[in-house]
Amino acid sequence: MDCLFCKIRDGQIPAKVIYRDEVCLGFEDINPQAPTHVLFIPLQHIATVNDITPADRQTVGHLYTAAAQLARERGHSEQGYRLVMNCNRDAGQTVFHIHLHLLAGRPLMWPPG
Ligand code: 5GP
Repeated sequence: MDCLFCKIRDGQIPAKVIYRDEVCLGFEDINPQAPTHVLFIPLQHIATVNDITPADRQTVGHLYTAAAQLARERGHSEQGYRLVMNCNRDAGQTVFHIHLHLLAGRPLMWPPG
């Protein structure tokens, strides 16, 4: 399977990895949109949010707890931050291995464009 984020997971493509456990990996986005822009991916390949099944509930929840932990460690809890997962074309998904964006460190507009 030709998946960019599987290759990052496997160390075939370099990335600034900042978190890893038995379920997920967190690494800096190559094109950061905020002072903190980290992507959390499951080690298991899941292409889009549409492909998440009930068996993946713990895995997906794990991404959120890992991201919130990093947000705490970087001092973003009080000011706030955004966690977002894009799904397919209209949301702007470009890499088809689900990833939770952690964006923080500046005021973030809402609604998004
Ligand atoms: P999406 O648009 O699919 O929600 O987000 C994909 C994200 O992956 C983008 O924010 C993009 O900058 C990031 N990205 C794309 N290619 C690479 C890469 O090779 N390395 C890293 N670290 N991030 C990437």
